[in-house]
Amino acid sequence: MSAQKWIILDRDGVINEDSDEYVKSAEEWIAIPGSLEAIARLKQAGYGVAIATNQSGIGRGLFSFEDFETMCEKMDVMLDQVGGWVDGIFLCPHAPDEGCHCRKPLPGLFEQIQEAFELNSLEGVPVIGDSLRDLQAGQAMGCTPILVKTGKGERTLKKGQGLEGVAVYDDLAEAVNALLA
Ligand SMILES: [Mg+2]
Ligand SMILES: [Zn+2]
Repeated sequence: MSAQKWIILDRDGVINEDSDEYVKSAEEWIAIPGSLEAIARLKQAGYGVAIATNQSGIGRGLFSFEDFETMCEKMDVMLDQVGGWVDGIFLCPHAPDEGCHCRKPLPGLFEQIQEAFELNSLEGVPVIGDSLRDLQAGQAMGCTPILVKTGKGERTLKKGQGLEGVAVYDDLAEAVNALLA
């Protein structure tokens, strides 16, 4: 399958509001205005949409995998209401000290996405994130990095490191509009 029409999104701070206290339940999962509609526009334009998300709150014991699944169900229902869906959600459930290969900035989740959808490569696939590590994980696989200012994005921008050649947009809606223009 061609990787031309795929896109990889971070979740917290890109699709839903992030929290320094972690997003631990469906109740705490609040969509960023316009993000779900943006995903629907990607689907209507023929894009494969995959989510790659660090969820160390599971490894830290702050919430369970079942809680995560319940958040996914809420997102799916809300996406369905606007005519959207995602093709896959790939998560790293590990705590930072577990030494896994899937916690961004490592590229393990991106490797899983490439394998799951039998993509020849992820070269040029847009990766949209609010943290530098989202972009670094994608860049390790040849993805094109896009930063959004939602979530931790303003903080990432202020640090100003590792952002050469990185496109910056206010939010997912604006990034998708630019991509589809
Ligand atoms: Mg994030
Ligand atoms: Zn992991």
